[in-house]
Amino acid sequence: MARAYNFSAGPATLPLEVLQQVQQDLVDYKGTGMSVMEMSHRGKDYDAIHQEAIATFKELCGLGDDWSVVFVQGGASMQFAMIPMNFLGAGATADYSNSGTWGNKALKEAKKVAALRGATVNVAADTQKDIPTRQPTEFAWTEGAAYAHICTNETISGAEMKAIPETAAPLIGDMSSDILSCERDYSRFSMFYAGAQKNLGPSGMAVVAIRRDFAEKGPDTLPTMLQYRTYTNENSLYNTPPTWGIYVFGETMKWVKRMGKENLFRQNAEKAKMIYDTIDSSEFWTPTAVKEFRSNMNVTWRIKGGDEALEKKFLDEAKALGMSSLKGHRSVGGLRASIYNAFPVAGVEALVAFMKDFEKRNG
Ligand SMILES: *Cc1c(COP(=O)(O)O)cnc(C)c1O
Repeated sequence: MARAYNFSAGPATLPLEVLQQVQQDLVDYKGTGMSVMEMSHRGKDYDAIHQEAIATFKELCGLGDDWSVVFVQGGASMQFAMIPMNFLGAGATADYSNSGTWGNKALKEAKKVAALRGATVNVAADTQKDIPTRQPTEFAWTEGAAYAHICTNETISGAEMKAIPETAAPLIGDMSSDILSCERDYSRFSMFYAGAQKNLGPSGMAVVAIRRDFAEKGPDTLPTMLQYRTYTNENSLYNTPPTWGIYVFGETMKWVKRMGKENLFRQNAEKAKMIYDTIDSSEFWTPTAVKEFRSNMNVTWRIKGGDEALEKKFLDEAKALGMSSLKGHRSVGGLRASIYNAFPVAGVEALVAFMKDFEKRNG
């Protein structure tokens, strides 16, 4: 078996233990004679999987009974549309932090809904085009805003919010690329969500944590599948949920629990530090994010401020050594190492050793 060191930003590396468990269960799930993929979503075997996945995630995030955790298809991008559809009513204002590519995509969807409804979207902070990349720290919040939306980790620029801002409005966080990767007070939010394919499981759904009372604020005139209450009231079983994804998500959450959150969070910080220390050790490398916003999940950098020929050589040689997907996002170029929870320490060590060797030969 040859496992690549897969630095992909998403879908991303899953824990090997989880893949092996899933493989063992694939054809016959614990003596049921069928795969989880083939089971009724109304049966007791699937129900146990569904409930345990939610309970484990809630425990890891420290969420009480006032919270629902639901699974919505369409990824994080569908959430960009559902949030304003549910919470940005006529005449209301929503605050958005335009912190990068993803914050901007969320903002654009809100503007579409606002235009249809006669509502307002306020850009409370704007660092989208800042180079070096960073997250905002100053926000011009609107008094009485319907909600405030932030993106805690900009996956493409590699800029992470280290402190969650204070606002009186219900706070909504896109945490697609850093959920459950560091210590965070989730109770500060009214809702947070993540496309599953980075830190939680396979692609195909968003995991959405939402306060039950907040979910009820959406208009019940929306199409049923676009209302959060449909998911919170029916425990994501109004229609057929993405059962396979939920099962693998549940196995991944059990893995996080076995690892121990504190160990995992410390390991994440250590993995990122190894790469940043290497970048900082020489002028050969150029970090792209401001130091205090450097992401522990998506490390972004360039060679000599942007030597594309040398970066291509770096990528080709890395690939030959079994290190894949180190290329920066197509919109920004450069290099990016996505090192989510499941990315192994040995893979970071291999990258750092290769970087040192590459610099020696090309510096
Ligand atoms: C990947 C990502 C998204 C988009 O997720 P999809 O599930 O592909 O829609 C949104 N926000 C952030 C921060 C991301 O990293």
